[in-house]
Amino acid sequence: MDSVQYILSPREAFIAEQQWRVVKRSVDARQRELRVHLTILTDENGKPIPKDAPIPLYAPPVFQDVHQAKRSVTIIGAGPAGLFAALTLLEHGIKPIIYERGKEVSERKKDIALLNRNEGLNPESNYCFGEGGAGTFSDGKLFSRSKKRGNMQRVMELFHYFGAPDTVLYEAHAHIGSDKLPSIIRNMRECILAHGGEIHFETCVRSLKEWKMENGKWKIPLILAIGHSAHDTYRMLAEEGVKLETKGFAMGVRAEHPQALINKLMYHLKPSAISRQDSELIEYVGNASYSLVTQVDGRGVYSFCMCPGGHIVPAGSEAGSCVVNGMSASHRNSPYANSGMVVQINPEDIPGDDPLRGLAFQEELERLAFEHGGPQAQAPAQRLRDFVEGRASKDLPACSYLPGIIPSRLDQWLPAHIGKRLQQGFGDFDKKYPGFLTNDAVIVGVESRSSSAVRIPRDPETLQSVSTPLLYPCGEGAGYAGGITSSALDGINAALKIAELA
Ligand SMILES: Cc1cc2nc3c(=O)[nH]c(=O)nc-3n(C[C@H](O)[C@H](O)[C@H](O)COP(=O)(O)OP(=O)(O)OC[C@H]3O[C@@H](n4cnc5c(N)ncnc54)[C@H](O)[C@@H]3O)c2cc1C
Repeated sequence: MDSVQYILSPREAFIAEQQWRVVKRSVDARQRELRVHLTILTDENGKPIPKDAPIPLYAPPVFQDVHQAKRSVTIIGAGPAGLFAALTLLEHGIKPIIYERGKEVSERKKDIALLNRNEGLNPESNYCFGEGGAGTFSDGKLFSRSKKRGNMQRVMELFHYFGAPDTVLYEAHAHIGSDKLPSIIRNMRECILAHGGEIHFETCVRSLKEWKMENGKWKIPLILAIGHSAHDTYRMLAEEGVKLETKGFAMGVRAEHPQALINKLMYHLKPSAISRQDSELIEYVGNASYSLVTQVDGRGVYSFCMCPGGHIVPAGSEAGSCVVNGMSASHRNSPYANSGMVVQINPEDIPGDDPLRGLAFQEELERLAFEHGGPQAQAPAQRLRDFVEGRASKDLPACSYLPGIIPSRLDQWLPAHIGKRLQQGFGDFDKKYPGFLTNDAVIVGVESRSSSAVRIPRDPETLQSVSTPLLYPCGEGAGYAGGITSSALDGINAALKIAELA
């Protein structure tokens, strides 16, 4: 099989996609006229393969029955890293035994509904903790910048196998959506259980001692896939002698614009009302997103996890703190466009030599945001231009954040090395997209968990902790991945290493 790439108008691409087997699609909005790059599968004579030709999309996974398996592996955390590690172990005939502090996905949904109605945070069941980890009620953008980490296509195939739409197999910026992710995660769980794996929900691992033998080695390999929000678990690891180190991370706010404005800026639409043609275009290519980056005083300031047609959500896991993030449903059709806007923080920016000082720094800002928020857990917010020009906002625009927002002087209480850089950064983004810096947009605080502030160093060859043999730190919490796909791949790689052991 071969393939041919075409550069088409959105309309032509839409028609081609109904007819032919597409293997890659990306939207190019850099020019005035939007273009779609489509790669279509062809036969040996260069003839396009019809969409419904009886050619398998990929080789389906083969999971072994491990009810009686001789080998087993403990996994802590059922996020993308833990689940994909478990699935890979099943493919190799090894029994995964998963411990997850949160609840299974349908019970978790109920706790999230309470959180969104300001009816309380369950510190063990929220946007970060529970079946599927932070990935379940995430935006579900399946995208990784790094091609070096491993077989990314396999991650997409597994998502597809468990229920993700065909587009995840070929879309350059594939997206599942937070409405579809829970059933995919449930299908993964059912597969793991049906083949003899174990999953223990509502079981927070508070010590690793029970897995250790007398001589300090583990009874069985242990995959540590705890994500980046389990601050208590990091502290337990430090106490129990697992080597940890500070790593660079990023913090800032979430910005929300009207989606119609972002569509106009990114798709170069006329300033007048949206025409029927514009609407058709947006229906095919989807609401516009952006990816912005600039340098201010030697630090990166950039957009992060942009969610077109999405919602801002309360993503904290501890009482008395305010943390925001973003997500969108599969149709991405809310009237809002939100994105993290963060500033790079280097370890040397935080005084001291405690490897966990980045966590304390995050917690401090989250507490500050909570104090500046409303009495019923409303998040502190400021109109964007007011923030940049150092003015109080008398009122706030409509916002997607369900618990609500309250006017606050983020320009005054954000640490200067974050706030000042953000102010200049927004100015730079407005130069690139005039109109971006507007009081129709609002910033909401704080976006503090965009990446892990800790690394659990591991040997690059064996993937085992440098301090603790047979412990496999992986995923976002280990500091080696960022996002769903790279965490899933990291889990796969840890499992493959274990499968290699005699
Ligand atoms: C709202 C939101 C939107 C996001 N959108 C995207 C997106 O669009 N695209 C993207 O790529 N990424 C997105 N992310 C980030 C993505 O979800 C994470 O990068 C990814 O889930 C990390 O995977 P992980 O398996 O390493 O850790 P996690 O998904 O964080 O999973 C870790 C799991 O370990 C469990 N755990 C922790 N400690 C213990 C313990 N002591 N005992 C037992 N269990 C424990 C936790 O409960 C959790 O379920 C988003 C995150 C959020 C919060």
